[in-house]
Amino acid sequence: MHNIDMDVVDMTLDVMKYAISRITQTAPELGHPKKEEELRRLVGETITDEGIGGEKAFRLFRDVLVRATVPIDHPRHLAFVPAAPTRAAVMFDLITSASSIHGAYWMEGAGGIFCENEAMKWLVSLTGLPEGAFGVFTSGGTAANLSAMVTAREHWRNTAEAHGRDRGLMITSVGAHSSIKAMAKVIDVDVYLVDSEDRLSGEGLKAAIDSLSAEQRQRLFAVVATGGTTNAGIIDDLDGIAGICGQEQLWFHVDAAYGGGALAADSVRHLFYGIERADSITIDPHKWLFSPYDCGAVIYKDPELARKAHAQEGSYLDIFKDEGAQGFNPADYQIQLTRRVRGLPLWFSLAMHGTKMYKEAVERGISLAGIAGDMIESYPQLELVREPSLSCVLFRRKGWLPDDYTHWTYKNHRDGLALVTPTKWKHGNSYETVARFCFINPDTTEEDIKMILDTMV
Ligand SMILES: *Cc1c(COP(=O)(O)O)cnc(C)c1O
Repeated sequence: MHNIDMDVVDMTLDVMKYAISRITQTAPELGHPKKEEELRRLVGETITDEGIGGEKAFRLFRDVLVRATVPIDHPRHLAFVPAAPTRAAVMFDLITSASSIHGAYWMEGAGGIFCENEAMKWLVSLTGLPEGAFGVFTSGGTAANLSAMVTAREHWRNTAEAHGRDRGLMITSVGAHSSIKAMAKVIDVDVYLVDSEDRLSGEGLKAAIDSLSAEQRQRLFAVVATGGTTNAGIIDDLDGIAGICGQEQLWFHVDAAYGGGALAADSVRHLFYGIERADSITIDPHKWLFSPYDCGAVIYKDPELARKAHAQEGSYLDIFKDEGAQGFNPADYQIQLTRRVRGLPLWFSLAMHGTKMYKEAVERGISLAGIAGDMIESYPQLELVREPSLSCVLFRRKGWLPDDYTHWTYKNHRDGLALVTPTKWKHGNSYETVARFCFINPDTTEEDIKMILDTMV
């Protein structure tokens, strides 16, 4: 593998050239999925006894396969939660791979983990958590939520003998991300859903707790609040919820996978008041902190509780606990052992640009949502469903049925114009299909928004 022949040199140059040209393209072609059989017909067999050669494999990827993907950083990709990694972060993602750093233990990864921890210190500082709080980078929000939930349940089991036998129960609201329910299945706990997609308040939480049976109350160990719902950008009443969790001795987790980036934005920071009282927090740098996939983060008020829940034991691992290897071991604080130092691209980009640029780029997403809100109100056929929150905008095209939104989405995508998808918003007991924008990319312009809105009239 280490014989550098001309093929390898050519392949390397092709890859570097492609990477550079891709990250300098601000509006890459909006690709489309194709059926698997069609892709197979276009590329043929790629895994063969002799190999098809780097040049050919690369050509197939560049000319066929990547064009069957949607570039999530396109300025008119406003669906789901988009991403817009900085060029610095993308280039350093290549370096992260090239450096072959094992990110589980300080003994092997010290220099890389040091960088991750510098970036983590900044993230922790944004939360306002007390001295001693710290975190670790994960593969994403799902893994971060899972790691926090495992820690919460383990802590609960350790606090009273009796809980060891109980099946746990968590409270969250309808606005919580699907990963909360999915990860509750993984750790086999029940979820009580407060039935509103609007902001969960301290009183709402208290009422939910009061409605539990004595048996359920006994099993309740955690509350998951959301710091920016994925659908609508709603931030729960974190301070009120923290108060109730304190009184009731419940673990308080804040899922800010999407919204966490907005902790950097002065204009909305007050909405997160109370997050500094959380036991654990999830933030996804691959969403609103301009990192490439995949990079999430879980932060704990008391990391020691996470270590108790996650540190793996094994005779082959003892060496890493040796005095000469002492330092921060990321493997001890989340579910994964072998791990990429996936916080490294964020570190490089932060170090290069400074935190002020991050603040400004996040503020830009928030102002784009406000601008879009005003523009929507200026079209007689359109109206806001609710005021924009963080960088999410929910709006309706008067008279449209769900199918109209679906056709609109597919047409815009087919035309290579934009990827904007509908969602549902809950009114009482019924759901309305509406249009949704989520802004992340600071390069999105007012003209981009207007182009999309014009396709609805
Ligand atoms: C996106 C999201 C998640 C899941 O994060 P992944 O990185 O996709 O695993 C969890 N919670 C919220 C609020 C999210 O927006």
